[in-house]
Amino acid sequence: MLVFRQLFDPTSSTYTYLLGDRASAEAVLIDPVFEQVRRDAALIAELGLRLLWTLETHVHADHVTGAWLLKNRLGSQIAVSAAAGVTGADWLLQDGDRVRFGKRSLEVRSTPGHTNGCITYVLDDETMAFTGDCVLIRGSGRTDFQQGDARALYRSVRSRIFSLPETCLLYPAHDYRGLTVTSVAEEKQHNPRLGGEAGEADYVGYMKNLDLPHPKKIDEAVPANLRCGQPGNEASSALDPDWAPLRFTFGGVWEVEPHWLEENLGAVRVLDVREPEEFSGPLGHIRGAVLVPLGELAQRAKELPKDKPIVAVCRAGSRSAHATAILQKAGFTDVANLPGGMLRWRGEGRGVEGGAL
Ligand code: FE
Repeated sequence: MLVFRQLFDPTSSTYTYLLGDRASAEAVLIDPVFEQVRRDAALIAELGLRLLWTLETHVHADHVTGAWLLKNRLGSQIAVSAAAGVTGADWLLQDGDRVRFGKRSLEVRSTPGHTNGCITYVLDDETMAFTGDCVLIRGSGRTDFQQGDARALYRSVRSRIFSLPETCLLYPAHDYRGLTVTSVAEEKQHNPRLGGEAGEADYVGYMKNLDLPHPKKIDEAVPANLRCGQPGNEASSALDPDWAPLRFTFGGVWEVEPHWLEENLGAVRVLDVREPEEFSGPLGHIRGAVLVPLGELAQRAKELPKDKPIVAVCRAGSRSAHATAILQKAGFTDVANLPGGMLRWRGEGRGVEGGAL
């Protein structure tokens, strides 16, 4: 079975695609975004996948790739077009190469025009293609910087993408209106720049007169992407908190393991967000825990000192997950949830005050 997820970075309107082979658990990630690496790594872990490759469709001008950071964290390897001129890649892809994950694979098709090194990745059965900034939904990538060449882009689309089966779904690297997917048939018919009877000269004329603003992040993004996303001297913005061995969930919550908490009770403030009758009820509570019921937390957050990190606790771990979000909103930076709550804590035989034996 194919595992497929479309992920979105709202800052740059970039789509990142996760493809995995369920049987072997091998996966690839197309166009990861630096600032979303934590999220993507959490999803890969929660789905039980192992990331083999990060794949770039091209050297992006609007965001920094997460390829280098993912390689550091997950041991994945980096694949980029040989024509992209980058340093630090493990595989310089050529037209016709195949990137395998389990029993599945992606075919590399060179589709230059937006940049020299643009690649479209076509799934083995030709039901899906990842077109980068070549074909966008009812649009195309711009051709006015980074070796852009409108004639080359037109030829790439007509010969390498519109030649795929009509039903083949096309997934772009961006969409600025929230549209998610299109197909070869749709774009052939309805793409205002590239579809219908539009000829090469029509397309070139269209692109010449687009008059787009200079991309905001180009001066930062292109040099970083030429290093596969390895940060330069500037401080990395993706540093994780290190007050405990924390785990970040795809749901966006930091978690700390019960055994760590039990061994480090003195170093943190335990915040119990259950109701008072639960706090003094049969499950008991963790020694030293401060009680602030979830419904009162937003109001009373300022009562809590900021001298120690806070670990939020409830019965099963869901109300306390919400509590971490409330605390972050109130300006607390070092917060984590206790997954499984008091149920798991007691189930693991950890110490409590009060409660039934
Ligand atoms: Fe681009």
